[in-house]
Amino acid sequence: MPSLDPRSPLVLDSRELGRRAGSMKVMQFTVAAPADLGVALVVVPTGSDVEFDIRLESVMDGVLVTGTALVTVAGECSRCLEPLAFDTEVDIQELFTYPETDSRGREIPGSNSDDDLPQLEGDYFDLEPTLRDAVVLALPLVPLCQPDCQGLCSLCGVNLNDEPDHVHEVVDARWAALADLATKDSSDE
Ligand SMILES: [Zn+2]
Ligand SMILES: [Zn+2]
Repeated sequence: MPSLDPRSPLVLDSRELGRRAGSMKVMQFTVAAPADLGVALVVVPTGSDVEFDIRLESVMDGVLVTGTALVTVAGECSRCLEPLAFDTEVDIQELFTYPETDSRGREIPGSNSDDDLPQLEGDYFDLEPTLRDAVVLALPLVPLCQPDCQGLCSLCGVNLNDEPDHVHEVVDARWAALADLATKDSSDE
């Protein structure tokens, strides 16, 4: 009784591949990005195109999936807060293992000895967790609109990329006091 929904675009069917070790299948397909895909400052917009270019390989222990997914990323620059958007390719690599079988050769769901590896459910496996991991690894934690983004002025918040010559006259308090005296002197005359 599989809990994976075969109608989900990221749940793939390994049936065509067969379980003969060495058989291989190349798949190229586009799905709509699932919700909440990304990190704090940058995300893959929900519903945007995710273009998979992957290879399924039947290996001893299961199905090895390798390839790439091309995603659109949107967010804001961590220094100047301007919106940014770019496409990036993330690496997909996952081994989906077969469940163990009982003495009659029937698969025991959830019986995988290695808990870290995702498992096939019947002929199906779910690429969504793999995609999420790959995207989180690939997205920058400190996204920048350009490598040398100048950020914002810490005093007034102006975007320093737009105004490279922007400076504030920093007046030392002691000089300010002298300047006051000077004005008083001149007004006394
Ligand atoms: Zn910036
Ligand atoms: Zn300023």
